[in-house]
Amino acid sequence: SKAEIGLIGLGVMGANLALNIAEKGYPVAVFNRTASRTGTFFENAGDLRENVVPCATLEEFVAQIKPPRPIILMVQAGKAVDEQIEGLRDFLSAGDIIIDAGNANFRDTIRRFDELENSGLTFIGMGVSGGEEGARHGPSIMVGGEKQAYERVESVLKSIAAKFEGEPCCAWLGHGGAGHFVKTIHNGIEYADMQMIAEIYGILRDGFGMGAKDIGGIFAKWNEGRLNSYLVEITAAVLEADDPMSGDPIVDRILDRAGQKGTGRWSAIEAQMMGVPATAIESAVAARSISADRELRLLASKTYGSAPAPTNTKPDASVIQDLELALFAGKIAAYAQGFAVMDQASDEFQWNLPMPTIARIWRAGCIIRSQFLGTLARSFEADPDAENLLLINDFVSMMEEAHPALRRVVAQAALAGLPVPALSAALGYFDAFRQARSTANLIQAQRDYFGAHGFERIDEGGEHHGPWGSGAASA
Ligand code: NDP
Repeated sequence: SKAEIGLIGLGVMGANLALNIAEKGYPVAVFNRTASRTGTFFENAGDLRENVVPCATLEEFVAQIKPPRPIILMVQAGKAVDEQIEGLRDFLSAGDIIIDAGNANFRDTIRRFDELENSGLTFIGMGVSGGEEGARHGPSIMVGGEKQAYERVESVLKSIAAKFEGEPCCAWLGHGGAGHFVKTIHNGIEYADMQMIAEIYGILRDGFGMGAKDIGGIFAKWNEGRLNSYLVEITAAVLEADDPMSGDPIVDRILDRAGQKGTGRWSAIEAQMMGVPATAIESAVAARSISADRELRLLASKTYGSAPAPTNTKPDASVIQDLELALFAGKIAAYAQGFAVMDQASDEFQWNLPMPTIARIWRAGCIIRSQFLGTLARSFEADPDAENLLLINDFVSMMEEAHPALRRVVAQAALAGLPVPALSAALGYFDAFRQARSTANLIQAQRDYFGAHGFERIDEGGEHHGPWGSGAASA
């Protein structure tokens, strides 16, 4: 056997990851359910062929890897992973490590870990972010599972990972499902980032009547400042691209119906299950769901009419600055929520998630990479026990500067009838978060009135009931 590592699943991500591994000098055995894909992959591997061992059967594949065998699965998430593990199992020996690198639900990862442990096999759940390019040239890698198993593959993973100022964006984050959980929240934050960018685009397109190219120019400018990030950079590139078929900006020809594969939704579900507010992420997921039913939207736009016609005035410099700051404030709130969800999960699953490390391995390779994450990593290092991002010094000053703009933008958008669900959720969260006396006193009174749930008083200890009289639930 000549391979150091094996990889199953030569789809978009798997093929690129295999080339990345081979390029770093690790001989890699590859297998794909549909054998023709393995052949095509090998033919196109060029010089890297010398480090690729194409295999037509699972038996041959396993035999080609030096034991104890690390085997990366990069197949479709869900059922395919279980099927592939089932198929592999018979050929493996104790000590071999199966590494699921797809976008698994972390609850499946925990289950698979337990199932495999019984047969002496080790399981690692590994979140990989960065899309096709990342897989090929350096993704961000979030690992969960047994630490010793990780240590056996650490050098390969670190060599294929993205580097931020020389530091690999790859880390072991905790046992069991920790890696896939962190990847899920990464994707939830990604949904929020993307949605808030799209909402700002919507204000410029539908509020001001600007064309795609001009809007792209604004994002390109912003990418040089505090919003510097991969997503803002590609937004500019996307808005400036022409459709070869029509000559129009390509975005103007793309159907306005967003897809989703589940990770964003899982973030929202897990946040809800743990009782952690993640409203910016939740509304980003909901916005994709609303977009998906285009027929219904067309019907509703006939019933109610859409927002008024754009002003067709050029937004002045102060408006542009407000939009930039609003997006930044929304981003801070969304990250505060995402990290709060991870913080709670870390307690519930006893992962002891290293927040500064998570921020550090997101600085390069992954989809949400940004200058902002550099600040975040530094702030977390200075204050690793911060209860909420919004209470860390650097973020307090950034938010103080930015939230008035978020307020103006959300208010103007609301008056103009332009949808800004994620930005307004971020604002609502921020305002509720900093409200010393919330309105939950009324909720408690209502609950006591109809359900005799009792309430605490601000001026006296113990449980109390209200003087509701007849019609109220009896205490
Ligand atoms: P592709 O659709 O390009 O490839 C899917 C792969 O899964 C193929 O190799 C396919 O084999 C294999 N497969 C499907 N069903 C089975 C099965 N029942 N048994 C064995 N193999 C099966 O997917 P991607 O490369 O895009 O995604 C792979 C994983 O990576 C997913 O979990 C995805 O969520 C995750 N991911 C994707 C990212 C992206 O940007 N695309 C980013 C980060 C993670 P066959 O050729 O036989 O059909």
